[in-house]
Amino acid sequence: MIQITTPGRPVSTELPLDNPLLHARAISRALGVVGDRSSLLLTYWVFLGRFRFTELVKCTGLSKSLVSNRLKRLAEQGVIERRDVNGANEFHLTDMGKDLYDVALAIIYWDKRWHFTEGCLTHHLKHAACGKEFSPVPSCAQCEAPYDARACDWHYGPGAPDSALASDMPSRRSRIAPSALDAKHPIMDRSLEILGDRWTALTIAAAFYRVRTFGGFQQALGIATNILSSRLSRLTELGIFSRNEHGRGEYRLTEEGLSLFPVIVTLMRWGDRWFCDEPALVLSHRSCNQPLVSMMVCDQCGGRVGFGDFYF
Ligand SMILES: [Zn+2]
Ligand SMILES: [Zn+2]
Repeated sequence: MIQITTPGRPVSTELPLDNPLLHARAISRALGVVGDRSSLLLTYWVFLGRFRFTELVKCTGLSKSLVSNRLKRLAEQGVIERRDVNGANEFHLTDMGKDLYDVALAIIYWDKRWHFTEGCLTHHLKHAACGKEFSPVPSCAQCEAPYDARACDWHYGPGAPDSALASDMPSRRSRIAPSALDAKHPIMDRSLEILGDRWTALTIAAAFYRVRTFGGFQQALGIATNILSSRLSRLTELGIFSRNEHGRGEYRLTEEGLSLFPVIVTLMRWGDRWFCDEPALVLSHRSCNQPLVSMMVCDQCGGRVGFGDFYF
């Protein structure tokens, strides 16, 4: 499991010397943009090539006012931009929005591995370079070997930690009507459970920092007990956590939960790249002892998969 270390001083207590989640500001900032169910749903459809307002209202099943509000917010945050195409307004991903493709591929890696669905379009992606149907494999850009949670260490980086996790964290989960979730896109339903609520995603991130007890999560997240209780129950119900009744009721990531690691890694990388001058947390890959730079590789030809390198 992941060890948090400061140079020359290994830290192995459940909560390190200071709160690691405050150093993971890149994650909380990234979640500040996409950790909202409506924004995530809209970003997903723009990724799939639905560029017009009316199409987006139809695909998402959200109200016009909510679509308008979230598109405006995503534009302000720099993820999408409004373009005039032949006299019609279209919404396209900016470079910052396109840069989310690694996060999308990390979600596909996890979802396909644990919830393969024959009719799910994103489970049948083809790699442009080899033309074959492929699964993305999260790999280390330095040594090219696949990585997972057990093969990486965190170190505090030069960036300063945030003083708070997130100031505008909603305590309620917004609901998306089931009609909004197309049967061909069951992956959306599952990723909304994980990423569409910032407290849920941060609870998972905390588990990667070896937080395991109810009190530990409460202390690491500064979260109200009723909210924490509902998130932990839901994550256990989903099979992301298992509760060890004999081990003081600890919450541990299951194998399925552990395979969400690349989602956390790519979100952090995206947050670092677009919101932080310097990383407050740095990951290293144990087998090559280099800072971990995540890349997604095609399991068929071994080639790198980037934005626009795959199709349905
Ligand atoms: Zn490596
Ligand atoms: Zn390939």
